[in-house]
Amino acid sequence: MDAKELPVEEKTLLTHDMLNEAYKRLELKNRRDPMHELISTMLSHRTNHKDEEKAYYTMLERFGDWEGVMQAPFEELADAIATTRYPGQKAPQIQETLKIIKDKRGEISIDFLEEMPVEEAMEWLTSLPGVGLKTASLLLLFNFKKPILPVDTHVHRVSQRVGLIGAKVTPNKAHEVLLQLLPKDPVELYNFHIHLLWHGQRICTWRSPKCEKCVLNSICNYYHDVREEGIDKVA
Ligand code: SF4
Repeated sequence: MDAKELPVEEKTLLTHDMLNEAYKRLELKNRRDPMHELISTMLSHRTNHKDEEKAYYTMLERFGDWEGVMQAPFEELADAIATTRYPGQKAPQIQETLKIIKDKRGEISIDFLEEMPVEEAMEWLTSLPGVGLKTASLLLLFNFKKPILPVDTHVHRVSQRVGLIGAKVTPNKAHEVLLQLLPKDPVELYNFHIHLLWHGQRICTWRSPKCEKCVLNSICNYYHDVREEGIDKVA
C-alpha cells in the first residue's frame, strides 16, 4: 500500500513497532528525583546537557538546598547558573517556582503529584512560571509514570514527516493528537517518545534526513513525496 494511503492509526502503531525493533525497548525508570527533574528542565532551555548539569550542581553546592536557592541573592544565583543560556531570566523563574511550591504545599517537594489525576497534575505544573506543556509532560511520564506523551522538536518533526500529524499541527497540539493514536500505557508512550527523539537526532535530522538508511522510509510521506522528485534532493 502507498505510504499516504495507510490510515493514520495504523501508521502510528507501525512506526512504534518499527522503531521498537530498530532501537530496542526500554524500561521506564526514574532518571532523577522530581524536583531535580523540574529545575534541571528549566535550566536546560537552549542549553546542552553538560552545561545544564554544571549549573545544577554549582547552584546546590553554593546554596546548600532548595531553601538556600530560594533565598539566595538574585545576582549570586544567576552567577551560579551562568553556564546556561539566559541565567538572568532563569534565576528569578527558579526562585519564583520554589516559592510557589513552598506556599502551596508547605514544603519544597512535588512528590504529591504521584497521587494526583493526570489532568489536574498537568494544570498544576503548567501554572508554574517557565513550565510549559513539554516540561510538565516529561515530568509526569518520566517521574510519575502517568500516561502522557511529551512532544519535543524531534518527536514533532519526525511525526510530521512520516505523516502521523498534519503540517499545521503545532508541538503543543501534537501532544494531544498523537496521544489519541497510541496505547495509553506509560511504558509504550515512553518508548515512542525516546525512539522518535533518537530517530530525529540520528537519522531524521532537520537539515539532511538520511532517508535511504531509515527504517521508516516505506511508510513515510516525506520520503514518498521526495522520492518521486528524486531522493538526492534531500540527501
Ligand atoms: S524516511 Fe526520511 S523523512 Fe522519513 S522518517 Fe525517515 S529520515 Fe525522516
